[in-house]
Amino acid sequence: MATGTQTLFRPSAEKRRILLVEDEFINQEILKAYIGEIYEILIAADGATALETLFAEYETISLILLDLNLPDMHGLEILSRIKEDSRSAHIPVIVMTADSEAEVESLTLGAIDFIPKPYPQPKVVHARIQRTIELSEDRDTLLMTERDQLTGLYNRVFFYRYAVLLDEHHKGFPTDAIVLDINHFHTINERYGKQYGDELLRRLAAWLLETVERKGGIACRRNADTFMVYCPHREDYDVLLEDLSAEMDRSGKGHIRLRMGIYADVDKTMDVERRFDRAKLAADNVRGSASNAIGHYDHAMHEAEMLSEQLIEDFPEAIRDRQFIVYYQPKFEVHGEEPALHSAEALVRWEHPEMGMVSPGTFIPLFEKSGLIQTLDQYVWAEAAAQIRRWKEKFGVTLPVSVNVSRIDLYDPQLKDRLSAIIGENGLAFGDLLLEITESAYTEDSRQLVEALRQLRAMGFRIEMDDFGSGYSSLSMLSTLPIDILKLDIQFIRGAFREGRKDIRLLEAMIKLAGAFKFPVVAEGVETSDQVAVLSALGCDYIQGYYFSRPVPPEEFEPFFDGKIV
Ligand code: C2E
Ligand code: MG
Ligand code: MG
Repeated sequence: MATGTQTLFRPSAEKRRILLVEDEFINQEILKAYIGEIYEILIAADGATALETLFAEYETISLILLDLNLPDMHGLEILSRIKEDSRSAHIPVIVMTADSEAEVESLTLGAIDFIPKPYPQPKVVHARIQRTIELSEDRDTLLMTERDQLTGLYNRVFFYRYAVLLDEHHKGFPTDAIVLDINHFHTINERYGKQYGDELLRRLAAWLLETVERKGGIACRRNADTFMVYCPHREDYDVLLEDLSAEMDRSGKGHIRLRMGIYADVDKTMDVERRFDRAKLAADNVRGSASNAIGHYDHAMHEAEMLSEQLIEDFPEAIRDRQFIVYYQPKFEVHGEEPALHSAEALVRWEHPEMGMVSPGTFIPLFEKSGLIQTLDQYVWAEAAAQIRRWKEKFGVTLPVSVNVSRIDLYDPQLKDRLSAIIGENGLAFGDLLLEITESAYTEDSRQLVEALRQLRAMGFRIEMDDFGSGYSSLSMLSTLPIDILKLDIQFIRGAFREGRKDIRLLEAMIKLAGAFKFPVVAEGVETSDQVAVLSALGCDYIQGYYFSRPVPPEEFEPFFDGKIV
């Protein structure tokens, strides 16, 4: 296992420091004369001073020259103290003695070399010292770069290299790529402190290391709480994961849940990194699942991966050829006797030349991951704004349209300018384009996001919190977040109207709560007249859902303008 944490970083021109532990004045002087020009020498004339100096200066000491006969302690005792302490264990020690018998014992205690007394030629002394320091620094550098500092496992780069080597040594043997993650590690860290978090990571690492040493394979920490293992194919991962879970639970602070992604019998013609991306995909697939801790990369995932690649590849052409079509779904106000058209939500569709209509559920998450979402969203916003203008020209009314703003858009420093330009180009007011931000964006707790929304709101945009009830925003957050409208999550409505209707009380409470904060409430995913009746009786302000209309292309939306509009 690597320690190496005290490795020095210094410009090579600077003098290395040597701690010389030697009580005889004459010997001190000789060594100073031999090497004093090249090295900075700290002198300790007895054991106590030596240890004191060492632990005060361990971070900058490159080598210890140790005499064995000291007035207060035997040199071997000092040596074992040095090697026992993690702060000094990695510092090389050269023993200086006239007693050739002591050599063996010194070596077993961890000394690296000898200089006999009386001292040999200055050249020889110098060469030994130099070589020892160089070796030790090389080793530290190697450990530093090869290993993860916290756990001592390989780091990602070296792991991938060793994986290739492993392939070469085990040609024709089926091999598995495994990714392991601790569920909610972030929360554990926050709750019990970083030290405890680190302890968990070290424990997991130690278990992995011990396991691969016994059963073959290599292990590494990918980042944060994600680990990777590359090992001969096996079938008993459920047993292994149980063992590991038991080991983790011994840390005492509640059950630690792990998830594992397996890409079994990897395709060795494929890039190593991609093999582990597959295992990671499999692990992420069981994220949040209470019953399933192990995900397998299977045929379905393979198909999905191929589709994703295809869609990403086709994206530029799709934007260029305007294959993205914006659909509109009406939102009705339900206060009065009759529902009245209030606004619409713009929802994008992809009319793919070969695949036909592709739904946003397929490509939005993908584009969010690959960074394409910004381009797409800007396209949709511009299109929606132009549509508001066209309808205004045609029907003489401005129908506000809400657009979806992805979390990633909010990091764009030019977002305000882009939206302003779109508003300006179409002669709209800021309030005409509503911005829907999904709840989970808020719960990510990024001050930057909240600040971006605050600024947009200050410009005059209205902000709608989408999918409310799906995340975990706390009540106290509601009073401080920059929002104008709450949109209840589709699942939430679904849950409330499920058999037994137990959750309808919850729905009622939510609507009351929104009322207390003076937020108008939109219910989405409303499909039946019964739901409309219940929701409006509970005080819900607006309703969007298949009951009124599915999202439709602009031409099909136009008949709604014939009805009552608020
Ligand atoms: P969302 O913003 O929460 O949109 C509501 C989704 O619920 C839409 O799905 C809509 O078609 C569907 N829906 C509406 N009423 C009903 C109903 O009564 N029953 C059922 N079962 N479903 C209903 P869609 O259009 O597939 O969009 C899915 C998600 O994709 C959206 O969820 C939104 O998060 C995202 N999205 C859509 N267009 C865009 C876009 O232009 N940009 C971004 N960033 N995201 C978009
Ligand atoms: Mg939405
Ligand atoms: Mg929604």
